[in-house]
Amino acid sequence: MSKRDYYEILGVGKTASADEIKKAYRKVAMQYHPDRNPGDKSAEEKFKEAAEAYEILSDADKKAQYDRYGHAGVSSNGRSGYGAGGMNMEDIFSQFGDIFGDDIFGNFFGGQRTRSGQRPRGVRGSNLRIKLKLTYEEIAKGVSKNIKVRKYVPCQICHGNGAKDKGSVQTCGTCGGSGQVRRVTNTFLGQMQTVTTCPTCNGEGTVITAKCGTCKGEGRMYAEETVTIEVPAGVQEGMQLNISGRGNAGERGGPSGDLIILIEEETHKDLQRDGLNVVYDLHISFTDAVFGTQVEVPTIDGRAKIKIPAGTQSGKIFRLKGKGFPGVNSYQKGDQLVHVNVWTPQHISAEEKAMLEKLTHSQNFKPHPDKNEKSFFDKMREMFS
Ligand SMILES: [Zn+2]
Ligand SMILES: [Zn+2]
Repeated sequence: MSKRDYYEILGVGKTASADEIKKAYRKVAMQYHPDRNPGDKSAEEKFKEAAEAYEILSDADKKAQYDRYGHAGVSSNGRSGYGAGGMNMEDIFSQFGDIFGDDIFGNFFGGQRTRSGQRPRGVRGSNLRIKLKLTYEEIAKGVSKNIKVRKYVPCQICHGNGAKDKGSVQTCGTCGGSGQVRRVTNTFLGQMQTVTTCPTCNGEGTVITAKCGTCKGEGRMYAEETVTIEVPAGVQEGMQLNISGRGNAGERGGPSGDLIILIEEETHKDLQRDGLNVVYDLHISFTDAVFGTQVEVPTIDGRAKIKIPAGTQSGKIFRLKGKGFPGVNSYQKGDQLVHVNVWTPQHISAEEKAMLEKLTHSQNFKPHPDKNEKSFFDKMREMFS
């Protein structure tokens, strides 16, 4: 069957302008539109024929080829199997949807007619959660940690697309690469067109004809990767750091999930964290408490000297201003609270016993707390203020 002349199909002269061609196509397409000619095979053929003619004549290059060489000039650079009947309805709607949608069909097709184009390739990778144990010292200053993570990474061979080679990635025949298919249905309101994700390519617009041998077409593989994590100062047990895009690689080039770092605190042998503050239990001897002394205490940033005045009571709390943790999102800084415990000897020699016995009835050794002596509850209030 010899092909009809494209100008004849659209009913325009060879000198017709682009606008006239567009108008003519719209008219013919409306006349033979399948919704107006249900079940009419010849109308469907004419509708497809018109779409084909318009595809060539609306493209300046293809039109020039056709003008010079006729059908022979455009058959080779046209899409494969692009003769009459080679184009399916979905192709036509996806390619020339604008024409149908813009005015004549607008009333019916409006709203649904969003041409959002192709969906991103592949499937998004899952989030990856890992625990990260940090010392108080690391938390106090913030730390950069290199950690090894076992996770999905993009396949090095196919660069994630899952195809054996370039030629194995082909435009999806169902949707013509748009990733969407249009379906026309008759409802009591009239004709409705719905746009759905192409079932063949899942909206990707391309299909893989031969899979990459290394990743079996998945586009990713399991591997160990070293990830550098910048931990800000002041984080706390239970906090999560979200590192966008460093989780598992997606399938077939899909975006990576997130890497979620769950912060854990390593217990410190001397110090105890309480929010931004750090608590330290200091044990001093009875004689040091009486005479006073100078001691060195550990802090989250080296050691600090503190003066214990003569006559210090057990339970006294010294506050080292600014020696606590920094706020993770503020300029606040906690304190170190040094809690004094006077050590009562548990074993004493006969000689020590004799010396202490002499002091038993000494007036100065009898407790006589004055009004300035804060109660345990006052101290607690002060400590957590
Ligand atoms: Zn691969
Ligand atoms: Zn498709």
